[in-house]
Amino acid sequence: MPVRLREALPDEIERWLGDAGEPRYRALQIFRGLQARGLEPAGLTDVGKTLRARLAAEAGPPAGEVAEVHHSVDGTTKLVIAFADGAMVETVLMGTTIPGRMSQCISTQVGCAMGCVFCHSGIAGLKRNLTASEILAQIHLARVHVPEGEQVTNVVLMGMGEPLHNYEAVRRAIQIMTHPDGLGLSTRRVTLSTVGLVRGLEALGRDFSGQIALAVSLHAGDDAVRSRLVPVNRRHDLESVVAALRAYPLPARRRITIEYTLISGENDDLGQARKLARLLRGMAVKVNLIPMNQHGASPHEAPPPETVEAFRDVLVRAGLSVFVRHRRGADIAAACGQLALRPST
Ligand code: SF4
Repeated sequence: MPVRLREALPDEIERWLGDAGEPRYRALQIFRGLQARGLEPAGLTDVGKTLRARLAAEAGPPAGEVAEVHHSVDGTTKLVIAFADGAMVETVLMGTTIPGRMSQCISTQVGCAMGCVFCHSGIAGLKRNLTASEILAQIHLARVHVPEGEQVTNVVLMGMGEPLHNYEAVRRAIQIMTHPDGLGLSTRRVTLSTVGLVRGLEALGRDFSGQIALAVSLHAGDDAVRSRLVPVNRRHDLESVVAALRAYPLPARRRITIEYTLISGENDDLGQARKLARLLRGMAVKVNLIPMNQHGASPHEAPPPETVEAFRDVLVRAGLSVFVRHRRGADIAAACGQLALRPST
């Protein structure tokens, strides 16, 4: 099979069955078992023993396992997932404002190549891309840690890594997440967080007709400041990122989230706020202001609350919707920019 079974779509499984001389009509049943029910191939008891054994041999060992579980006082759970080669990533389960519904933040790479100065994942650099099955494994493995009566209805690709820098695997993982016989998530409940890689934004918009929600990290109102904080800005400057966002085929009444990490003395002056407001004029966006999460590896720190307020006021006066984000899971280093590489990776 050219595509691995754990990340195969129904038509690919069907082709494999045909080539293997097995009944093709089993494809959807196998896909549902692996993805909707999160079973191991050996656990697919509704297919015959021989086929089950062939599937298990084809799939090989599980993509990963839970190495650590950390519970935060605010109800957030962080799981450390270990993969076969010893690489590790983190995934975080969070409650939402709607009872019974949870949101899961997942990683797409081991480390990250973007090098954002305030981010723990970026400081260590990129180790490797995750495969689609490793991206999906984070959701499957977290199932037993979802409290009784709750369900993961929202997935945010906002953990370690830049999803658009590993687009082929991310696209496949999203296809399976949103397939009605896969994980069955609504496309509007999948959010991809990016620094704004322009060609990736174009591909995502085209492949999913703009249905995938976007959270775009700008973190500055001009290129000089952004290039310092988000080095990839030297290749994808603000003008090209904003142009790609304006071209994103966003459905009516939906908005792009603009992420802005506020860092004391770096990007928290009101001049940046005014430039940001100008950049975003007329766009369907909401702005999340995130006072930086402190972590040992970075000399940067969050501005005082009055600076955050003043920054927000400039944006609000310009007609933008603005939210100041709480630092959830900060006590277990699960908040944005704190997902770190493990020593063994
Ligand atoms: S903030 Fe995101 S894009 Fe930037 S280095 Fe960290 S993980 Fe990568």
